[in-house]
Amino acid sequence: MSLKAIAIALKILVPMLSYWKHKLTKLRTDKNPNRWDAFTAHQAPHKPFLLLSIMDLMEAGRITENRIEPSLDLVDSFTGYWRKLFPEGKTTTMAYPFPRLQSDGVLALAPLPGVTRLIPPGEIHSLHKLRSCYSHACLDDNLYVLLQGAQSREALRHTVVNHYFALDIRALVQSESRINRLSAKYTHYLLDEGALTPDEIKEVTVTRIVRDRGFRGALLPEYDHRCAMCKIRVRTPEEHHVVDAAHIVPFAETRNNKLTNGLSLCKLCHWAFDEGMLGIDKHHRILVSSHMRAAGNSASNLLDLEHQPIVEPKNPMYSPGEENLAKHRRSVFMR
Ligand SMILES: [Zn+2]
Repeated sequence: MSLKAIAIALKILVPMLSYWKHKLTKLRTDKNPNRWDAFTAHQAPHKPFLLLSIMDLMEAGRITENRIEPSLDLVDSFTGYWRKLFPEGKTTTMAYPFPRLQSDGVLALAPLPGVTRLIPPGEIHSLHKLRSCYSHACLDDNLYVLLQGAQSREALRHTVVNHYFALDIRALVQSESRINRLSAKYTHYLLDEGALTPDEIKEVTVTRIVRDRGFRGALLPEYDHRCAMCKIRVRTPEEHHVVDAAHIVPFAETRNNKLTNGLSLCKLCHWAFDEGMLGIDKHHRILVSSHMRAAGNSASNLLDLEHQPIVEPKNPMYSPGEENLAKHRRSVFMR
């Protein structure tokens, strides 16, 4: 880019950035000191959390066009921030801030094709309702341009963190942002869609939360969130799934986090697989331990799985590796 072009770009970008820095401090939030503590500046943090999540996924390359979907990635990031700050029992949903950011001029909702009776954004209280009307949202064009640039995105992230969170928890919010960005990048990396720097690889190796979140983000969509053994697929309206991202050989043993060492398993099949009551043969058919039929057991549904083929991932490259399955058969499965 020539010096003249850079000067013109700066002339446009600098005022645009200061406009949006100011605008993002004026989000309409629930300001009630009885409901919200000083650490979130006595106001609801939903919109700031969602904005930070969008920035994190853009930086990690998980959002690459101006089309923000209420995806599992976004829900995971948003929930990660929430859990970092609030106790277990205090729950929420991304369905609150997502449609309501429209009234701040931050984004515009895009209705699903063919849907004529739209639920007003202020009446949406679940992801199920949101998805029944709207497919995605588009950020304001100028804001999208700013969020694509590393420096302007960083400046806007600081604005949001500094304005909506008390000084003593800003480092915590920034660390969650780091976890989000790195785990989303790691998901990309596991799917052979992106690279990590040597420092990032080191950080992933020692940070369990990043490793687990990145692994889950890559593995579960490959199985469409279905249990590879009993085939159940259950999703709550708030996008909680019944399946876990299970390792065939425990990560602690071989530090193998490749998708070929993973299986999407429901809680029961995960437990039975880890206990050696279920296994998988080299033709990817399910093995049921004879111990399952022991006196006193009544494992009817699990017994029905015997010799059934497992569900395979969408991409055959990530199909469970025979080396890992054989190790499980040798050292865990009880015949
Ligand atoms: Zn299952």
